[in-house]
Amino acid sequence: MEKKNIDWSNLGFGYIETEKRFVSNYKNGAWDEGALVSDSTIQISECAGVLQYAQTCFEGLKAYTTEDGHIVTFRPDLNASRMKDSCERLEMPVYPEDKFVEAVTKVVAANEAFVPPYGSGATLYLRPYMFGSSPVIGVKPAEEYQFRIFATPVGPYFKGGVKPLTIRVSDFDRAAPNGTGHIKAGLNYAMSLHAIVSAHKEGYDENMYLDPGTRKKVEETGGANFIFITKDNKVVTPKSSSILPSITRRSLMVVAKEYLGLEVEEREVYLDELKDFAECGLCGTAAVISPVGKVVDHGTEICFPSGMSDMGPVTKKLYDTLTGIQMGRIEAPKGWIHVIK
Ligand SMILES: *Cc1c(COP(=O)(O)O)cnc(C)c1O
Repeated sequence: MEKKNIDWSNLGFGYIETEKRFVSNYKNGAWDEGALVSDSTIQISECAGVLQYAQTCFEGLKAYTTEDGHIVTFRPDLNASRMKDSCERLEMPVYPEDKFVEAVTKVVAANEAFVPPYGSGATLYLRPYMFGSSPVIGVKPAEEYQFRIFATPVGPYFKGGVKPLTIRVSDFDRAAPNGTGHIKAGLNYAMSLHAIVSAHKEGYDENMYLDPGTRKKVEETGGANFIFITKDNKVVTPKSSSILPSITRRSLMVVAKEYLGLEVEEREVYLDELKDFAECGLCGTAAVISPVGKVVDHGTEICFPSGMSDMGPVTKKLYDTLTGIQMGRIEAPKGWIHVIK
């Protein structure tokens, strides 16, 4: 297979059109067979449910080349089951989980020329999503839906080395206590755009959102979960029903416990405790872990002892172990690596 002539290690995180995408339509109460298509555009009613009332959800995962030359994805079954949860909460029809994984496999195989080589740091990002496609004017779920998966190659996250982030405690909320924070709905991102643009304007990399009920507990950022390392090397992650259950974070907790023998805790984390942690990181598919060096709470700086120039030592071990598992350098727990070819 001839790879595309792309400068893999200098790719950014943007959309590059690839050859094939998977499309399936839901009509009269059933999904069709679905197919790979070449057309990257979509034609829908001007009154489609997604355009009027934001009835849409998505997933994100990566395909990449392992050390021994296989093309794989990481735990795609968890993306399928999370999308099921998102669909149920948004009154959308579930796309069958086994067919989701099959469709991921087809899209990667059909765009093999765009899967970056091992060692480049680049990956093929996959974006499964679903939206209400039929006209809706009175507020109710659409009757017809489209499920799609496209692929786009993305560059290494830490170009030019790791730089710990500076984040601010946000006055905006991300998710209501009994709202949609726990699902991957586009609407959660629409309402976060103003908060992230204003954070960037003030010189911060990200927002730390608090629980909107009491504003005393740490939730997550706009698109990544937190992990904290205590001074005695425990791995702590916030527990809340309005946090999106990151697959990366859940995997890191297993790695911490089973591979590194560390104690792990999923519990409520108070803003007041931040000053006592040794390290902090953001977990998500894009970067695996981005270290956080500093949190600014309305002028008060909380600086983690890991500093502003590198990942903390425990964060680094977690990062190296999980990326080692993903890239086939370390044996993976059963079922984590989905081999495409
Ligand atoms: C997607 C997402 C994450 C990260 O989840 P992964 O499965 O690790 O990629 C974290 N928080 C939010 C709000 C997200 O949408």
